[in-house]
Amino acid sequence: MTLRKSPAQIRIMRRAGRVVAEMHSVCAAMARPGVTTAEIDRAAREVLARRGARSNFLGYHGFPAVVCTSPNDVVVHGIPGGYALEEGDIISLDCGAIIDGWHADAAITVGVGEIEPDARRLIDTAVHSLDAAIAELATGRTLADVGGAVEAVATEAGYSIVREYVGHGIGTAMHEAPEIPNYRTVRGRRTKLQTGMVLAIEPMLTTGTAETAVLEDDWTVVTVDGGLAAHVEHTVALTEDGPEILTRP
Ligand code: MG
Ligand code: MG
Repeated sequence: MTLRKSPAQIRIMRRAGRVVAEMHSVCAAMARPGVTTAEIDRAAREVLARRGARSNFLGYHGFPAVVCTSPNDVVVHGIPGGYALEEGDIISLDCGAIIDGWHADAAITVGVGEIEPDARRLIDTAVHSLDAAIAELATGRTLADVGGAVEAVATEAGYSIVREYVGHGIGTAMHEAPEIPNYRTVRGRRTKLQTGMVLAIEPMLTTGTAETAVLEDDWTVVTVDGGLAAHVEHTVALTEDGPEILTRP
């Protein structure tokens, strides 16, 4: 089952998307050595308050913040706290917002100061894989084409794709059907791309193994080999005029 959204509903989601984009620009500007992830969360809360938006992360299965801050070997779901960013870190900033009951969800991965060329290349590849997936919304036929586009870009660059966590439909809930794996699946071939779909596509790439583990806080997902991870995400609407990124800055 796939929920399709009307143009009027997508209009509201666009507003939620703009709030998320603003959270990203504020959080990215703060990603400097010495800044703690708790300070980044606080700034993201201020954006939500200023825009009259609610958080879809805060309280989600007990999550205590409005942004997931995932540095270095943390893949996703890092909890903001006392960690102070260091020169050379990379950090995924996953933000969400609700406006009038409609959700948006997106993530960026940014470097802190000067980062290693390998880290830069990992982030760039994640962004390219997301771009390729979004392009498939215009030309592809099924969800398998979307996941396949991520897989092709990541594999070509020599990176691994995390398989335990996937993208998702989004609307009046943050996580709706369908699931969107970042690789080609047989199941994905059964879900045709249709106008009105709104999808949160979110590649997670690693420099080493794709195997992950969850830390004792029951949230933080890390690579088991300590390799770097990059995570990028956009909420994208498939409109009559083609794919529209609702969370673009
Ligand atoms: Mg998501
Ligand atoms: Mg997200």
